[in-house]
Amino acid sequence: MLWSLFKLVLFVCAVAAMAFGASLLMETNGGIRLEAVGMEINLGPLQSVIALIVLLVALWLVLKLIGLLRATWLVINGDETALTRFLGRRRLAKGYDALADGMMALASGEGRLAMVKAERAERYLERPELTNLLTAQAAEMAGDRKKAEETYKALITDDRTRFVGVRGILRQRLADGDTDTALVLAKSAFALKPKHEETQDVLLKLQADSEDWSGARETLAAKFKHGALPRDVHKRRDAVLALSEVKAAEEPTASTQDTVMKANKASPELVPAAVLAADVYMEKGQPRQAVKAIKAAWTKAPHPDLAAAFAAIEPDETPQARIKRFEMLRKLHPDADETRMLLAELHIAAEDFPEARRALGDLAETHLTVRVATLMAAIEKGEGAKDPVVKGWLARAVTAPRGPSWVCDNCQHISGEWVSSCPNCGAIDSMTWAEPPEQEFTLPGGADMLPLLVGSDDSDPAEEEIMDAVIVVEDEPQPDVAPDAPPEEAAPEAELAEPKP
Ligand SMILES: [Zn+2]
Repeated sequence: MLWSLFKLVLFVCAVAAMAFGASLLMETNGGIRLEAVGMEINLGPLQSVIALIVLLVALWLVLKLIGLLRATWLVINGDETALTRFLGRRRLAKGYDALADGMMALASGEGRLAMVKAERAERYLERPELTNLLTAQAAEMAGDRKKAEETYKALITDDRTRFVGVRGILRQRLADGDTDTALVLAKSAFALKPKHEETQDVLLKLQADSEDWSGARETLAAKFKHGALPRDVHKRRDAVLALSEVKAAEEPTASTQDTVMKANKASPELVPAAVLAADVYMEKGQPRQAVKAIKAAWTKAPHPDLAAAFAAIEPDETPQARIKRFEMLRKLHPDADETRMLLAELHIAAEDFPEARRALGDLAETHLTVRVATLMAAIEKGEGAKDPVVKGWLARAVTAPRGPSWVCDNCQHISGEWVSSCPNCGAIDSMTWAEPPEQEFTLPGGADMLPLLVGSDDSDPAEEEIMDAVIVVEDEPQPDVAPDAPPEEAAPEAELAEPKP
């Protein structure tokens, strides 16, 4: 600052001196007469101009000399690079020019050129931590993996650039699919920069993939601590990961039970947490608490797993008693599709087929799914309808949309059961109970023919198979809502291959 001010003042003085010189030249009729210390010098016009140039050169030299003296002074005072800086200013200028060119080349997608410029910049600047950054990115862009890796390794050796180096190699390992090494690298990158959001996400995903649930929960906690996650999202995701931790444990212990309770408390609307919590309460002999947990989740949205868990609370009750007990859930969402199907199932189990049909209402027309069509087949069969009618419904079940499933918000992957991280894209807490997007569903051999085949009188082996699968519904004397999976949907769904996105 002071130095710049000094230069400015000197420059103003020089300009003033020149102006004074010029006015003197005018006055003296093209010549200068200088008088100093008793000596008198007369200069003609040409000589005056030459003298002026000499004066300017001298001024420039003086400035340089002052710079040198200043650098020397700084060296004496401990700033060791001051002299080299002074002497290497030109080199520096060339170096930075090359660096700028390199960055420009990088920005315009010319990886090779950027590499050349980075090399040139390094020759002048000798600042590997700076030029290596450019080289690494340029090498990546140019597809020179070996060079990129070499450079990243060099970056790791410097404290200032270690993180960049680790991150670079981490990305390469991820691209290779070498997740074991990537996990180790992600952990060290996270240790270097726990606030770095991308690293947090990568580490979290790798930990979830390797089923290191407790590690994943720690990373999630760090994410929350550093403000990358809102409190409610953290609470829910932590519950989600905690459930995976519990599911991974071979034997339920007091500690896993405790984890389940906490997960359920943190996220009461999370269906799998409520189901597991109900299990735990039942084991502890607290059915009222189990009911409470299920009810809390059902209040948010009805779900067949909740119904199954609710049924399991009283495994030996009669179908009529069960219908009565389910009234508690029914009135929370009386018009929801799930409630209507559930009631239909309960009435089928009680062999009250007209009531089952009433419960289902117009679902068969408004929202036909595999489950609705199967229920309709069961109702028709129970009411003594002719075989072609029953078979007609079964045929529709085969091609009907599958209805709500666990669908990944991120990639639309459909999962048969709830999972904490999507098996397809690895996103955490992305599974939502929803209607999957309409998918083109074609059966080999032409599904269009199916109604004709099934509707014909000749019995066909394929048709028998479908019938057998569904007969379970009617022949099942036990309550229809089993703890694991309701048979109504389990049987026909097993026939359908899971569509892969
Ligand atoms: Zn996904």
